[in-house]
Amino acid sequence: MKRDYYEVLGADRNASESELKKSYRQLALQYHPDKNPDNKDAEEKFKEAAEAYEVLRNPEKRKVYDQFGHEGLKGQGVGGFGGYEDIFSAFGDIFGDFFGGGGRQHSGADLRTDITISFEQAAFGTDESVEVRKHVPCHTCKGSRCKPGTSPVHCGTCRGTGQVVRSQGFFSLASPCPHCHGTGQIIKSPCTTCRGEGVEIDTKKISLNIPPGVDDGSRLRLRGKGEEAPGMPPGDLYVFVHVQPHEFFHREGLDLYCQMNISFSQAALGAIIEVPLLDKKTKFISIPAGTQSNDRYRIQGGGIPQLRGRSRGDQIIQLVVETPKKLNKKQKELLHELAEIDGKPVKEKLKGFYQRLQF
Ligand SMILES: [Zn+2]
Ligand SMILES: [Zn+2]
Repeated sequence: MKRDYYEVLGADRNASESELKKSYRQLALQYHPDKNPDNKDAEEKFKEAAEAYEVLRNPEKRKVYDQFGHEGLKGQGVGGFGGYEDIFSAFGDIFGDFFGGGGRQHSGADLRTDITISFEQAAFGTDESVEVRKHVPCHTCKGSRCKPGTSPVHCGTCRGTGQVVRSQGFFSLASPCPHCHGTGQIIKSPCTTCRGEGVEIDTKKISLNIPPGVDDGSRLRLRGKGEEAPGMPPGDLYVFVHVQPHEFFHREGLDLYCQMNISFSQAALGAIIEVPLLDKKTKFISIPAGTQSNDRYRIQGGGIPQLRGRSRGDQIIQLVVETPKKLNKKQKELLHELAEIDGKPVKEKLKGFYQRLQF
């Protein structure tokens, strides 16, 4: 008793073409002979699903089947799959995505290299170059793997298909040809430079355009600058950027921090001080009277440019009030005078008092 085609595919009677295709793919994967070696039941299910899909994907046959069932299709050559390769040639496009051939894009391997740049180079961008040792197509044979003047010949074992087909009951199992390793070609005179590998190792100088605003630990991706293998697109090169610290500035996000020492009188009276900028220029800033230690002054837009963006951080100047360590006589006198006005006792004035206390 033949099962209903919709039942076989687990599909609704008014399932769309793509829904049927999806159901069939699922079954084909489930009962694929690679997954079920020597399993008669799976073999039958695989064949049954192929037959059901072959009918239902064809609008004419589907119409007939919907109206008259299996009876209606008699004599129309339905289900005449002789074997595994028949199914493959009938539905090759469906299997293509799953069982090799198409789908995943093969490319050469990705590479990594490191570069160290200065703080300013990172902020403003720079053109640099790195040297990378990598596989490139052989310069003698240009990747063809053949001695110049010779060319590969079709493999006699697989007749150039790269696959050998082994019959096993209902199935014909295809596997890569052992003679040509699936390439379908035999190289009779391999290139002597690369010993038939088609590639050689070379040191390549690669120029880098480092954009403004890169931070320590940034990773730049250079498309197609990785390993090159003949017959496939090259891999990518990843450049890890290390930024040297700056002796005066440090970075937090896009903001640039620095510290400026000011004297007590500057802090108390206000002052105009000269501040270094990252681009080696300077700027005079006016600090107000009564500035406290650790007060901050902000230069808008004086920071790091945003990587591949338009905005820019600020330069933040941390003001530190410096207490003098060495004073001359005049300075001492003035400070004592100030202390007297403040009315707060200072150490030297107490000297006599302490001395009397102790002796
Ligand atoms: Zn070569
Ligand atoms: Zn072969």
